[in-house]
Amino acid sequence: MTFRDLGLIAPILSALEEQGYTRPSPIQEKAIPPALEGRDVLGCAQTGTGKTCAFAAPILQRLSAAPVKGRPIRALILTPTRELAIQIGDSFQAYGSHLSLRHAVIFGGVGQNPQVEALNRGVDILVATPGRLMDLHDQGFVHLEQLEIFVLDEADRMLDMGFLPIVRKIVNLCPWEGRQTLFFSATMPPVIAGFAKWCLTDPAEVTIARREVAATISHAFYPVALDQRDELLLALLKGTDFHSVMIFTRTRKEADAVCGMLKQHGYRGEVAVM
Ligand code: AMP
Repeated sequence: MTFRDLGLIAPILSALEEQGYTRPSPIQEKAIPPALEGRDVLGCAQTGTGKTCAFAAPILQRLSAAPVKGRPIRALILTPTRELAIQIGDSFQAYGSHLSLRHAVIFGGVGQNPQVEALNRGVDILVATPGRLMDLHDQGFVHLEQLEIFVLDEADRMLDMGFLPIVRKIVNLCPWEGRQTLFFSATMPPVIAGFAKWCLTDPAEVTIARREVAATISHAFYPVALDQRDELLLALLKGTDFHSVMIFTRTRKEADAVCGMLKQHGYRGEVAVM
């Protein structure tokens, strides 16, 4: 299976190729076709499975296929943390590099002026955390009346962080008629399943099973302060008889930092992006 087989258009295919993606991941294989058709999707998948591309590529394709005058917000992606919001924004930037759609990222904890300016210039795709979105909406800077696609990312984390009531309010600000909703959660506790049922219509259900771990692998978990992480990693490496080691980080940037640190300590390392 290739990205072309999934029905993606040339500008997106070349952007994915430039990212070094050769094959779609399982969530992309299963979620992109129904999303491209305009269907709602209920995706049970964790971060790291490639789910951002699974929703970003169809959004880019659908919006670019039917341009609208005046740049109203046509797609909204709600995500629980600023880090995720920034990563999702970067993904839209990358996958949409050969299209002329505009996106903005808004999140709390920083001044709102640059975000307001971006909104005032007009954006097709808005990536946001719930609190700041509601704030800017209440101040009259966010208009969702022409929204076509709504994405809820990491719904179970939204629940854990107490965001669900505000997410519900935001969903109610979006049009219901004709709206496509893409809903992602790593787990489906009953509250989340109920929430999904409330905001989705006849969704394509896509579940990416968590991988089972081989019996030969032992696990250890070390809760550690960020500034002690390098020290711990070096101590673990020193105390382990290994031929080669794989170290996973959440972001590419962190991988670069860990790799640089290891090189400074005499290890040979390379960064590989999934
Ligand atoms: P996500 O689960 O969306 O956070 O993606 C996790 C990581 O996988 C990101 O660094 C993506 O750039 C990368 N990625 C997503 N899809 C693919 C793919 N089909 N091939 C290679 N890497 C990918």
